[in-house]
Amino acid sequence: MRVTEIFHSIQGESSFAGLPCLFVRLTGCPLRCAWCDSEYTFFGGTEIPQDAVLETVRSYGCPLVEVTGGEPLSQPEAFPLIARL
Ligand code: SF4
Repeated sequence: MRVTEIFHSIQGESSFAGLPCLFVRLTGCPLRCAWCDSEYTFFGGTEIPQDAVLETVRSYGCPLVEVTGGEPLSQPEAFPLIARL
């Protein structure tokens, strides 16, 4: 799957705000919202096998993971990734 970045930070949104969180930012989005602040995710990224993505996630030992983008669900592989997470 195509990945823009995987990074550890603090969740800033939702009922999980303030908790340590691992972000998996997938590349690509078919939409073009006027307010988008993530245009850098539309293109590029790195092709990484799903097993390797999961291995990287595991290596952080962080129980909270967010799959984001771009629009992560534009990649069909996002669905099995989320199920496996
Ligand atoms: S990344 Fe999000 S905000 Fe930006 S165009 Fe896609 S759906 Fe809209």
